[in-house]
Amino acid sequence: MAGEPQADCLFCKIVAGEVPATIVRETGTTVAFRDINPQAPTHILVIPKVHYPDAAALAAAEPQVIADILCESREVAAAEEVEDGGYRVVFNTGSGAGQTVFHAHLHVLGGRGLQWPPG
Ligand code: 5GP
Ligand code: ZN
Repeated sequence: MAGEPQADCLFCKIVAGEVPATIVRETGTTVAFRDINPQAPTHILVIPKVHYPDAAALAAAEPQVIADILCESREVAAAEEVEDGGYRVVFNTGSGAGQTVFHAHLHVLGGRGLQWPPG
């Protein structure tokens, strides 16, 4: 069934507590944890508890959960105190855009100056 946990999915395992992660926030529909290979002083991933391979699939199936993720990114930025300096939220969607984990996730990056365009 759509959204069900996938046995071979790393982020489903983090949601289930089967793979350790540094969790910073959790809601009924989302989990936020520190990226294992941070690209900025603050680099947190906000993920849905449901499994969809990317943000587009999640938005099509459960748009309220995309909204939950975006609202959580603001809470993360506030908790990390990166709001004033500016921060970036990114959904890499598809391998051509750099997506490597195929469970939808939002990157929250901040704590340093960020170039635009990102390349
Ligand atoms: P993507 O490239 O798919 O947009 O982002 C996947 C992110 O997941 C990468 O930034 C990568 O560092 C992070 N990541 C991969 N494996 C793990 C893990 O086991 N734990 C955590 N916390 N992050 C991971
Ligand atoms: Zn998953």
